[in-house]
Amino acid sequence: MALEINARRLMSHLEELSSFNRTPGEGVTRFSYSAEDGEARKYLLSLFNAAGLGVSVDGVGNIRARLEGSRPDAPVVLSGSHIDTVLHGGEYDGAVGTLGALEAVQTVAESGAPHSHPIEVIVFAEEEGSNFGSTLSGSKALVGKYGVDEMKKLKNPEGKTMYDMARDAGYDPDSMPSHLLRPELVKAMIELHIEQSVVLESKGIPVGIVQAVAGIKALEIRLKGVSNHAGATPMNLRQDPMVAAAHLIAQVETLAKGTGTGSTVATVGRIQCFPNVSNIIPGEVRFSIDIRDTVRSGIESVVDGMAVLAPATAVSRGLALEIVPVSESAPVALDSGVLSVIEACAKKQGTPYHRMNSGAVHDACMFAPLVPTGMIFVPSRGGRSHVPEEHTAPEEIAKGAALLAETLLELAR
Ligand SMILES: [Zn+2]
Repeated sequence: MALEINARRLMSHLEELSSFNRTPGEGVTRFSYSAEDGEARKYLLSLFNAAGLGVSVDGVGNIRARLEGSRPDAPVVLSGSHIDTVLHGGEYDGAVGTLGALEAVQTVAESGAPHSHPIEVIVFAEEEGSNFGSTLSGSKALVGKYGVDEMKKLKNPEGKTMYDMARDAGYDPDSMPSHLLRPELVKAMIELHIEQSVVLESKGIPVGIVQAVAGIKALEIRLKGVSNHAGATPMNLRQDPMVAAAHLIAQVETLAKGTGTGSTVATVGRIQCFPNVSNIIPGEVRFSIDIRDTVRSGIESVVDGMAVLAPATAVSRGLALEIVPVSESAPVALDSGVLSVIEACAKKQGTPYHRMNSGAVHDACMFAPLVPTGMIFVPSRGGRSHVPEEHTAPEEIAKGAALLAETLLELAR
């Protein structure tokens, strides 16, 4: 028989969690290590205790809440997400996967279904990068990508380090080595999350099963020419970086459409012009390129194309060129075995699903190289996220959480 969750309980938990908020009426703002975050965590701990879960907190504030199985030494099945938000964010990003995991674990416990593996809810600290401009810091600390040295280098805009903020919030970052994830003790990790795009809504399907998470490469192109009088300089005597930028920006679209992977996206979202005055030929133009794909070759194809086109354009117009790498993360494939289990559970639940990719990065990405990892998406109304209007219908949240419960039980049997 398919498991049934308590949708009303889950929605009331979500509503209560959204009340721990620095900006009531203007979306949810809850940064890690803030007063609101501290109150939200007390609330979560009270829920975990009431559900009879054994709780531990690591040196940066990641929380693990454990339901024992019949074999205490069996590797654990993990599920969770984050509760920190962006500035003026929504109620569902991270929260659905955190409280959905609690609901799933409670459902398994209350069903009385036997399971040999323990199941844990995991709550990640500092996913959004709102404090330090670096995403996934909590899960990176858990898997050992960020050690104490990195935590002392990551600073918020006031210059306070992650190390000091974690300490001030009551954690002991120096203890992190003893809390590191031990992959051999983990059977699987499943993250439930809102889609943050329009694919599921446009198809009218309540649940997505994620196959891969896109990698990202961010570049900045800087073109320097000669700033001059817009009236007195003849067209054939100009070194105008704006015209070159316009040409290259149009080529970004052409390159992305032509990679052949079918999943490449590339965006020029920021452009700066100096001196940015209507009657002066610009001296310098800089623009960003954000390239994403679930296949590495798609990203490389755009980068390689730009590496040929940009110098050719710069030379032909007498401009100086710099291509500055800004950041990079590799595409992440999720575990096909776990995907099959989620798929079988969706069939058992009678829930329509769609196999898809994620354009956004999630905590699950830190686990995928180490342990079998899967993700479940629920739709985002209008595809909107990181804004106060972020919304997912309660029935869809319930379907995602029920599928998660079924999947956790199946993996933990
Ligand atoms: Zn998130």
